[in-house]
Amino acid sequence: MKTTNAHVVVLGTGGTIAGRAADAADALGYVAGQIGVRELVGQVSVPGVALRAEQVANVDSKDMEFAIWRELAGRCSHWVAQDEVSGVVVTHGTDTLEETAFFLHSVLPLQKPVVLTCAMRPATAFAPDGPQNLRDAIVVAAAPGARGVLGVCAGAVHSGEDVRKVHTYRVNAFSSGDNGALGDVEEGRLRQLRAWPDPPAAAATSLRAVLAADALPRGEILTSHAGARGAMIDMLVRERAAGSEGAVQGLVLAGTGNGTLHHSVGEAALRALEAGIAVWRTTRCANGRVLPHAGDALPGAGPLTSVQARVAMMLALLRGEDARVPRLT
Ligand code: ASP
Repeated sequence: MKTTNAHVVVLGTGGTIAGRAADAADALGYVAGQIGVRELVGQVSVPGVALRAEQVANVDSKDMEFAIWRELAGRCSHWVAQDEVSGVVVTHGTDTLEETAFFLHSVLPLQKPVVLTCAMRPATAFAPDGPQNLRDAIVVAAAPGARGVLGVCAGAVHSGEDVRKVHTYRVNAFSSGDNGALGDVEEGRLRQLRAWPDPPAAAATSLRAVLAADALPRGEILTSHAGARGAMIDMLVRERAAGSEGAVQGLVLAGTGNGTLHHSVGEAALRALEAGIAVWRTTRCANGRVLPHAGDALPGAGPLTSVQARVAMMLALLRGEDARVPRLT
C-alpha cells in the first residue's frame, strides 16, 4: 500500500522518544518527556503525507494519569472527525503504552487509525530508535483503509487490543501475545497480516462517560503468589466498609496459571465480592488466556492482561454497569 495526499496529526505525550540524556552512550540515565512533539515531527518526513503536531502532555509514561487519557481521547476524537485527516499518531512512553492503547481502543469508535509509537532509546542516543518508529507510525496512520487503535514499534504493527511490553531494554520491546502482530512496516510500506481491530460495542458510551468524568472509579491489581495472604484485600474491604472517599470499587487478581489463587487470597476475594467489590481473575503468565471452568467462584477476564482488565473494569464501573462479570466484547 502506497500513501498519497494524506494528512496525519501527531499528538505528543512524552516518553523516552522525547527523552534527553547528558551522555549519548547512556540509554538509562535520561529524563523522559523533554523534547516537544513539533521538534520530533520536524525530524521525519513521509512522501505524500502532510504532518501537523500537537502537544497533549510531556510526561514519563510511568506517571500516566486519567486526566491525560481523557484529554488524549478528546483530541483523538476531534482529529479523526476532520475529513482531511487520514489518521492520528500518538508519541508515548513505552512503560504504559499498552494501557493507553487499550484505553483508547476501549473508548474510540474509530473508522480511522490512531497509532501509538514510542522509543526505547532517548532522542539524544547514538542511534535513537524514535525517528524510525515515528516514521513507521505515520506510514500506518496514512495507509488507505487502516483503522483502529494500533501500536508501532521496531517495524511491527500491533493491535491496541493485544499490544504489551515484553522487554525492559531491547528496541523490539513489544508483542501481541498469542495473536501475533497485525502487520509490518518495511521500507515505508505497510504489510498487513491480519484484520484491523474493531472497537468494542460500548466504545461510544465509554467515550461520553470518560469526557464527563473527573476520575475513573478506583480499581486495584493484586498478585497471587507462593505464601500470598488475603490481608491486603481485607484492608480494601475495610476501607470500603468505612465509606472512605475513593475506596476501591474493583479488584483484578493476577493469578497463577489459569487464574488460580492462593486459598488465602481466594477466600478474601470472596469477602470482597460479598462487600460489593467487583473481582476478576487474570493470569501472571505472559501468554494464554484465563479459560472458564464449571464451578468458578470468581470470573476470569479471558484474554485480558491484568492492566487491560483493570481498564475494562474501571470503564464498566464508570458506565454504571454491573461489573461483577467482565464483558469481553
Ligand atoms: N519511562 C519511559 C516512559 O515510559 C520509558 C520509555 O518510554 O521507554 O515514558
